[in-house]
Amino acid sequence: MGAYTMITESNRCKPRVVVVGLASCFGCQLQITNDEPHLTELLDQIDLEYWQLVSSDDMPELYDVAIVEGSVTTRQNEELLKRVREKAAHVMAIGSCAVTGGVTGMASDNLDERIDHVYGASLPKSCGEAIAPRPVSDVIAVDSVVRCCPIDSRDFVTQLQRVLFGSNRGQSQRTLCADCKRNETECFYNQGKLCMGLVTRSGCGARCVNLGRECMGCAGLSEAANLKAARLACSAYGIPVEAFDATLRVFNQVELDVHSAQADACEGQEARR
Ligand code: SF4
Ligand code: SF4
Ligand code: SF4
Repeated sequence: MGAYTMITESNRCKPRVVVVGLASCFGCQLQITNDEPHLTELLDQIDLEYWQLVSSDDMPELYDVAIVEGSVTTRQNEELLKRVREKAAHVMAIGSCAVTGGVTGMASDNLDERIDHVYGASLPKSCGEAIAPRPVSDVIAVDSVVRCCPIDSRDFVTQLQRVLFGSNRGQSQRTLCADCKRNETECFYNQGKLCMGLVTRSGCGARCVNLGRECMGCAGLSEAANLKAARLACSAYGIPVEAFDATLRVFNQVELDVHSAQADACEGQEARR
C-alpha cells in the first residue's frame, strides 16, 4: 500500500476512482449524490470508473482510489476487498457500516440464530457464505474514513479532496460533548434523556443534537470514551444503564465484542500468572 501520488503540473492525469458497495442500505452512496454543486466540481477532478449504484458495468482492472460502503458479511466480500486493496493506492471507508460495522454489526451476536430466523433452514446461495459482520478495516488496511450513518455529503467531498490533493489534518478523537457544548444547546441529560454523545467520537458537529434529537452514536466510539464514567452518569440522571448499553450496541457491537474478547484474554493471562 502506498500513499496516493498528488496531482502536480507535470502529472495532470486524473485519478481513477471506483465506488464499491458491500452489505449496506446504499444510503451513503445516495448521500454522495445529494450535494450536486460540489459533486459536479469533484467529478471534474476524477475519472469515475465504476459505481455499483448507477451502472451494471463490470469493475475495471485498474484504479487509484477505492471508496467502500458497507460492512463485510460474506467470504465473497472478504475476497473482493483483498483484490481491491491490491490495486488501489488509497482505500476510503464511508459510513458506519464500513467504518465500525454499523447497524449490520448487531448481527455479529448470535449470527446463526438470526439467519435461521430470517431465512429458515438454508441461506439462499445468492447471499454468499455468511460471516459475522465486520468493518472494512478488520479485513484490509484502510487509509481514510468518512463516518456517520449516513455520511454527510459535504464531509465526503472534503475528505476525497484531501485524498486527491493532500492534507496533514488529523481526525478528532474527542467525544461529541466537546463539540456540543460549543453549540450551547441544552444537554439531554438535564431532561432525563439518554444521549450517546458522552462516548461518541466528535466530528459531525453534534448534528442530531442541533436538530433536537439525541445522539445515537453513529460516528463510533471515541478513543477518549470512558464507558464506566458514562454508565455512572446515566445512573446519576435516572437513566437505566441497560438502556445505555443497548443503544451503545446499535453502532458499536463489533468494537465492543473486540474489547470484551481482549478483556477476557487479559483476565486469562492474569489468572495464569
Ligand atoms: S452507514 Fe447507514 S446509511 Fe450508510 S450504508 Fe450503512 S446503514 Fe446505510
Ligand atoms: S450528552 Fe449529548 S446533549 Fe449532552 S453535551 Fe453530550 S452530546 Fe450534548
Ligand atoms: S449526533 Fe451522533 S447520531 Fe447524530 S450524526 Fe452525530 S454522531 Fe451520529
